[in-house]
Amino acid sequence: MDFDLFVIGGGSAGVRCGRIAAGHGARVAVAEERFWGGTCVNVGCVPKKLLVQAGEYGGWADDAAGFGWTIKKGPHDWAKLIAAKDREIGRLNAIYRRLLDNAHATIFDTRAVFLDPHTLDVGGQRVTAERIVIATGGHPTRVAFPGSEHAIISDDAFYLPTMPRRVAVLGSGYIAVEFAGIFAALGAQVDLVYRAPLPLRGFDQDMREALAEALTAQGITLHPGCTPRALALDGDAKILTLSNGTDLTTDLVFSALGRAPATAGLGLDKAGVTTGLTGAVVVDAHLHTSQPHIYAIGDVTDRLNLTPVATAEGHALADSLFGKLARSISLHNVPTAVFSTPPLATVGLTEEQAAAHGPVDVYVSKFTPMRHTLSGRARKSVMKLVVDQTTQKVLGAHMLGEDAPEIMQGLAIALVMGATKADFDRTIGIHPTAAEEFVTMRTRTRVAGVAKAAE
Ligand code: NDP
Repeated sequence: MDFDLFVIGGGSAGVRCGRIAAGHGARVAVAEERFWGGTCVNVGCVPKKLLVQAGEYGGWADDAAGFGWTIKKGPHDWAKLIAAKDREIGRLNAIYRRLLDNAHATIFDTRAVFLDPHTLDVGGQRVTAERIVIATGGHPTRVAFPGSEHAIISDDAFYLPTMPRRVAVLGSGYIAVEFAGIFAALGAQVDLVYRAPLPLRGFDQDMREALAEALTAQGITLHPGCTPRALALDGDAKILTLSNGTDLTTDLVFSALGRAPATAGLGLDKAGVTTGLTGAVVVDAHLHTSQPHIYAIGDVTDRLNLTPVATAEGHALADSLFGKLARSISLHNVPTAVFSTPPLATVGLTEEQAAAHGPVDVYVSKFTPMRHTLSGRARKSVMKLVVDQTTQKVLGAHMLGEDAPEIMQGLAIALVMGATKADFDRTIGIHPTAAEEFVTMRTRTRVAGVAKAAE
């Protein structure tokens, strides 16, 4: 065999897996056809957060007046922002490639597809490997409706030549909500069109309601219970017709209706690797596919599509295969954040999930962050703890508000360790912060769950 390990895909999962395996002494190759660092670095988490931060400055400039500053806000220069973002992404690209180089992995800047279970076509070259890891990630899906070809997807949003004046965003998942906030913060008139009654299906109901209020407070027009029916061109403008008959006139339609695993054309049938309904590679808890020597990690498995999960899986797999350290990753209590404006972060169970298993004590706190008592901005923070009534273990922590992702990372450690409400209560707060609210919530807001139903 040419290599001990061949990794298909140079994103977060693949680069980590290849680098760690090479560090353990394995002969490793990694192939990447598009961009090193994958979705997260190039058209995902990293550039998205830079755009979110760009939007925040506009709000802060407005807020400053309440603190005595006179700041005259000029127009935003989109081209300058995108150029700066591109420079940073270029730097990160190079770092990802260099990480593999430094680990003495062989790098292929091309596509790799299976010819048989141990052989790959790598840019026209036949390469064999003892073990193969599929880490090809995912891509935005295009939901078809008449005229949908005139809509852009998230990959395009990062390279728009100009900032649109009016944007209609389709969907209300992570990407839709984040980009609605970005465009609104940079001055666009934004419509958010989604089929559910509230955005972010699957998140805690209180958070979803608070987010809908926050989006409205940001000036975004919400169209719940709607799907796109047709999109037509009208000169430079676009007319988006919704399922309720409303016509929206806009400059850009941004379709954020989900992502799909990138498995098409990989030759998985020749490798004997089974895929599921969505095209995702089916894996067990140890990331084994249906072929004993082939593994899959990250978004291509379509389970919990988050970069830190992908890197953790890549690392664990490399350690298990070549580091004499068999281990797997727990997908319980994985914290996550939606970088909406303001952000929403969460770890553990929602009230609805927890209540389905037994009685829970629910603590909710809603307040105006200190900064906005002077800034005058209509912005609230909401915090919530969901506590198992029998064991008093904190099952879920949720927050919508400034700094929520930074706060939630620390709380996630507490939940992973199995902290109880009493542990939260005996922790001294840091004053004055928003975070201290999580350790000072003493009055139960309500009881939910099975016992409640039995009352
Ligand atoms: P999501 O799966 O989160 O959201 C998809 C949205 O599209 C939902 O609102 C869904 O509605 C809607 N939708 C899907 N199909 C249709 C349809 N046929 N008609 C109308 N509406 C439809 O996808 P995203 O693309 O936003 O993100 C993909 C994943 O990437 C996320 O789930 C997350 O795992 C990851 N991600 C993480 C980020 C982070 O960590 N901050 C940022 C971005 C992405 P409904 O809810 O009603 O089904």
